[in-house]
Amino acid sequence: MRLILFTSLLLASTAASAQTADEWHQRGREIFEASIEIPTVQGRGQMDEMVTYLRGLLEPAGITDITVHDHGADYGGTQSMVIRWPAAEPSGEKAIILLAHMDVVEALPADWSRDPFTFAEEEGYFYGRGTSDDKQGVVAITTALLRLRAEGFRPTRDIIVLFTGDEETVQEGAELAVTRWLDLSTIEYALNADAGGGAMLPSGQMVGFGIQTSEKTYQSFTFTATNPGGHSSRPRPDNAIYDLADTLTRLENHRFEPRLNETTRGYFTAVADLQTPEVRAAIARWLADENDGEAADIIEAAPTETGMTRTRCVATRLEGGHADNALPQMARATVNCRMFPGTDPAALLAELRAIAAPSNVAVEPVLPARPSDPSPLREDVVDAYTDSVRRFHPDVRIVPNMSTGATDGLFFRQAGVPVYGIEASWGVTPTDERAHGRDERIPVRAFYENIDHWTYMIRRLAGGGEEAQ
Ligand SMILES: [Zn+2]
Repeated sequence: MRLILFTSLLLASTAASAQTADEWHQRGREIFEASIEIPTVQGRGQMDEMVTYLRGLLEPAGITDITVHDHGADYGGTQSMVIRWPAAEPSGEKAIILLAHMDVVEALPADWSRDPFTFAEEEGYFYGRGTSDDKQGVVAITTALLRLRAEGFRPTRDIIVLFTGDEETVQEGAELAVTRWLDLSTIEYALNADAGGGAMLPSGQMVGFGIQTSEKTYQSFTFTATNPGGHSSRPRPDNAIYDLADTLTRLENHRFEPRLNETTRGYFTAVADLQTPEVRAAIARWLADENDGEAADIIEAAPTETGMTRTRCVATRLEGGHADNALPQMARATVNCRMFPGTDPAALLAELRAIAAPSNVAVEPVLPARPSDPSPLREDVVDAYTDSVRRFHPDVRIVPNMSTGATDGLFFRQAGVPVYGIEASWGVTPTDERAHGRDERIPVRAFYENIDHWTYMIRRLAGGGEEAQ
């Protein structure tokens, strides 16, 4: 199976490549190798080397408006960079901003079958920490900018690039960019290299490409039961651990109200035929009647759709009691919620408190929620994405996508800037889904296609709608 796949990758890669594109693929590969081999892990202090390297590529190409922002020692001394390519022929349109992150999750050589920070190409794959998340995004954007400069491209609007240095940890870069470094009134929307992308089945069939327009909101809560306690030889009728356990059982059985928005409606419409007949029928029923909660429950139970139909909350941590021979005076659980976009945090808190009330368990948010609305499905962005991806994968399914997790894009959405996760890289599902994990990798062909994709997207969206090659 694997051999067949690699053979088909090789053949397709040879057929699809033109002469000049090949040269830029090689340039991108060199930049990829150098970037992967700088371990930009929190606490290792190597962001400076990464930033200096990228600056050294861009400045000789004439992209000289580069600001490196220091985050300060409290955040491991990491850095983020803002790159500007001003409009050569201003059309009056606001800027677009391109997002990617330079930092990567730690990787220990002992956990890998190879050195995570030594770049390698093997059997149709590039290996190394960050090959999928998200050095390939940084490299695709950088290579696209270099190529467009070399080809004499004249942007009709300002192009801004934000490469952050802490997306995997505290996301201070994105927050500061939104609150201090950038004037958001000059920006129309963001294109995010840390979301979107395609999935291929082991058979070599492409499932589809997702354009991410929405993400759920993260919020944790503490559930705390308290009790006067006492000697365990004389149990009281009430007990903090039992109170908490009863509450968590009610939470487990609770179903939040199913909800649909423009993104998830488009998503379910596009993926319905990939599902089992039962789930497919439930999707049809739910799309016809949003209030059909029973249909939504069937969809939510499908492993691929977990979290897609509503807010979900789940217990993630537990503590309690203070001695083997004492009645517990306190028992506490952490419950992590992922709110469906548009959910009122106060309403969710009230709903959780109602679940906890019968057992006298107190519910408090850990941090204030930072909700964000879904970005509208802009026709120009969706059309450009569709046209770009279908150059490599004719007629492939394009799916609007809501992430159940979060990226730097969240901060822009919260601030009212629409964000589109438009990666065109892809991998074989589930074997290539190794972000944050062992032996992270990306198909060579996906990496090269993604360079061509970002070149196309920038040319089309920052070039007055000009059709790219
Ligand atoms: Zn990422």
